[in-house]
Amino acid sequence: MASVSIHPAVDNGVKPGKPGFAGATLRCNCTTDPVEVKISSDCLHNHVCGCTKCWKPAGATFSMVAVASSSDVEVTKNVHKLKVVDGTALIQRHACTSCGVHMHGPVTRPNHPFTGLTFIHTELADVEGFAAPTFAAFVSSVIEGGTDPAKMDAIRARLNELGLPPYDALSPGLMDYIATFTAKANGVLS
Ligand SMILES: [Zn+2]
Ligand SMILES: [Zn+2]
Repeated sequence: MASVSIHPAVDNGVKPGKPGFAGATLRCNCTTDPVEVKISSDCLHNHVCGCTKCWKPAGATFSMVAVASSSDVEVTKNVHKLKVVDGTALIQRHACTSCGVHMHGPVTRPNHPFTGLTFIHTELADVEGFAAPTFAAFVSSVIEGGTDPAKMDAIRARLNELGLPPYDALSPGLMDYIATFTAKANGVLS
């Protein structure tokens, strides 16, 4: 089962975060003039993601991605190297134009449940301690990324073994959060 690779940060077991962790600096893969992004809080909703849009290290099947409040995210070095990957996407993923790593992805679209949140990759942190991933999102989408569909049973089994329950959208908690926002926006719930 261990032969199924999910992501280098979890393949040897999910490392727990440090309680009360107050953030860290994310650094891109450039050996000179790296982009740095300071995160002034712990992350929320850390997970591995099978979609084809999130940045992942070479060879990984999944990305690892979390969110932080956008007010706790600040680019502190080499901001000029960043460029938005797709300006029409909900998540404005800012990638380093030299190494390709996605450094921060704010959601700024008005009236969206994720507005005010920024997507980040905690594996880029200079010190360990961010809250650990707790689920796997968009698992079936790894097929769109080129994974053999015949491997899906083994991938889902490995995710369960790692304590990362696999979902083919977001986790039930986040899907409920989105639906609650929509119901309130439509006046169905108060
Ligand atoms: Zn870079
Ligand atoms: Zn994703």
